[in-house]
Amino acid sequence: RNKIFKLSTGSKRLDQLLGGGIEAMSITEVFGEFGSGKSQLAHTLCVTTQMPGPNSYLGGKVIFVDTEHTFRPDRIRMIADRFNLNQATVLDNILYARAYNSEHQWELLNHIGEKLHEDPGLYKLLIIDSIMALFRVDFSGLGEITDRQKKLGQMMSRLQKMSEEFNIAVFITNQISSDIRINDMDRATYKPIGGNILAHASTNRIFFQKGQGPLRKAMVFSSTDLEESEEEFIITAGGVDD
Ligand code: ADP
Repeated sequence: RNKIFKLSTGSKRLDQLLGGGIEAMSITEVFGEFGSGKSQLAHTLCVTTQMPGPNSYLGGKVIFVDTEHTFRPDRIRMIADRFNLNQATVLDNILYARAYNSEHQWELLNHIGEKLHEDPGLYKLLIIDSIMALFRVDFSGLGEITDRQKKLGQMMSRLQKMSEEFNIAVFITNQISSDIRINDMDRATYKPIGGNILAHASTNRIFFQKGQGPLRKAMVFSSTDLEESEEEFIITAGGVDD
């Protein structure tokens, strides 16, 4: 396990919560409400993945699958500045793909699989921001949930296999369910969408909560090997930070 590389989030505290960072050969899911920082973390990872790190990690390229048109090259440029990296080089090392529907999202994985096969070791991170958005639109009917979950399961199993076969980290973002339960401490209990299929497919599920201004809280929601803990971090123009 020591040899598995981990990608820094840009925040030491958040890295600590994750046991060192976003881990290769597994799927890390971050969910939270709009503006909680999911996309900003995705953007930060686009940059930090390109930098050397612990365990002889030398850096690598990134694949970004964008389902909601959230990718902003300008955000990448500002994060590159923070780490004193060349903006154009950093952008060149991000393979960007926009998915227009859930079928297209699946087809993109075929192309990505070919790409990873062609250049083994070149790419280190695959981002899907967000995993459920297009499924939600394409399978919105009540009777379609079984079909949706079947397709989702196939996609997640594919992602897991790709992460292991090509030794890459998979990072996905997710939304919260609109059916919010209030527990006996009068605190809202949020849960991610995607049901059991997604719950079982993600190795680490992290909940992001909004705080005052740039402050955010990350909580381990479920994980096979992380302790249940929480950490605070901030969102800046230079990405996720302490
Ligand atoms: P999500 O993907 O969870 O909807 P985002 O990652 O897009 O959320 O985060 C949006 C939040 O990050 C907003 O609250 C915004 O204020 C903050 N933010 C985005 N870009 C910057 C920036 N360049 N500088 C400071 N804060 C930013």
